[in-house]
Amino acid sequence: MNERIASIGAVVSCMDGYDPDALPVDTACAAIRACLAPVGGVERAATRSALGRVLAETIVPRFDVPAQDNSAMDGWAVRSADLNPDAETALSELGSALAGKAYPGAVGAGQCVRIMTGAVMPAGTDAVVIQEAVKSSGMRVVIPAGQKRGQNVRAAGEDLKTGVPVLRPGRALTPADLGLIASLGIAEVAVRRRLRVAFFSTGDELASIGQPLAVGQVYDSNRYTLFGMLARLGVEPLDMGVVHDDPQQLEAAFRQAAASADAIVTSGGVSVGEADFVKQMMAKLGEVLFWKIAMRPGRPMAFGRIDDAFLFGLPGNPVAVMVTFYAFVRQALLVLGGRGDDAALPLLHAQAAHAFRKVPGRTEYQRGILFRDAAAWKVKSTGQQGSGVLRSMSEANCFVVLEHARGRVEAGEPVPVQLFDGLV
Ligand code: AMP
Ligand code: MG
Repeated sequence: MNERIASIGAVVSCMDGYDPDALPVDTACAAIRACLAPVGGVERAATRSALGRVLAETIVPRFDVPAQDNSAMDGWAVRSADLNPDAETALSELGSALAGKAYPGAVGAGQCVRIMTGAVMPAGTDAVVIQEAVKSSGMRVVIPAGQKRGQNVRAAGEDLKTGVPVLRPGRALTPADLGLIASLGIAEVAVRRRLRVAFFSTGDELASIGQPLAVGQVYDSNRYTLFGMLARLGVEPLDMGVVHDDPQQLEAAFRQAAASADAIVTSGGVSVGEADFVKQMMAKLGEVLFWKIAMRPGRPMAFGRIDDAFLFGLPGNPVAVMVTFYAFVRQALLVLGGRGDDAALPLLHAQAAHAFRKVPGRTEYQRGILFRDAAAWKVKSTGQQGSGVLRSMSEANCFVVLEHARGRVEAGEPVPVQLFDGLV
């Protein structure tokens, strides 16, 4: 169950600069964020299956990693107090220590042990002299001057320390994290249950794949881009198909979606001409706000709640769907799914390879290609930027995010870019 907030309208209307008919992107993000709380539900997952899942417990080492001091190099384990600071020292070798096979005895004055990387430091030794620096013949070993206590030794606990928390709830587990968990011998962890996200497309002009295409119809591509974006986020996508612009069908679809999902993402039906009947229906079903966002593409959008499910009503144009998803929905779903870290997409800077047309007063998400020439990382436009030109998203490797207040961009100016590869 979501932590209930009294009313979305009440939460957002008292925000600074809230104007539903000209909402800056940042204000819309903040408004959405203010309404969200993680949904509940925890389950156990085998360590490998936990990749990408949100951790629901604190991982506290019960032992040090590494468990004992061990050698970082191949060489000889010595007692640094035995060594002459300014001259060679001859020592006698007692035996060897291998990874997984410790030297059983103690090392006394004037003695040393041949040691391999990863082998436990024999009792009494406190430094490793690398093999390239040592002269040895038989059991006689000559160590050059200038060795230091602790050199080439990995201290017990230098990776993970007993009792010091290493991973906390709210973290999406990475490949490195799986390795950390495994290094503690943990076979299973508690993770949040996957968020269930229902999605459907609206529009009388839409045909589904497998049907013939009548004049004036388009194949429903949005359900495929949405599926891809949702799948990459690690949520459980629930495909509810195409719904016609018919109040009864829409109402039934929204009710079914709300009953089975934590969030609903739709495309189409929120543009000015269409919004009115959707608005009336929404007023019956839940609390949904209709916004005009100061952005391009993707001006109209709906946000609200039907029962316990949050609704993101995205515009229908194929590029606008993707832009609004990444600008608003992605982060919202991560928050609902329990991510505690800042999941915002990083904005990096690149040099504009040419001038970009832009008018102040809206944030533009132009599709760009980031490339490197001899001098710098630069970004160029994919060309045609119409919100129906889905090819521009496929050709691009980044968004060029031209800020709200910014006007025309001249060649050579730095511009913020958001890499698509950072979206996975
Ligand atoms: P709408 O926001 O419903 O007015 O849709 C805007 C435009 O986006 C329509 O003219 C359609 O051509 C296109 N469109 C809407 N939904 C889809 C979809 N699911 N797949 C492909 N194109 C769509
Ligand atoms: Mg439509």
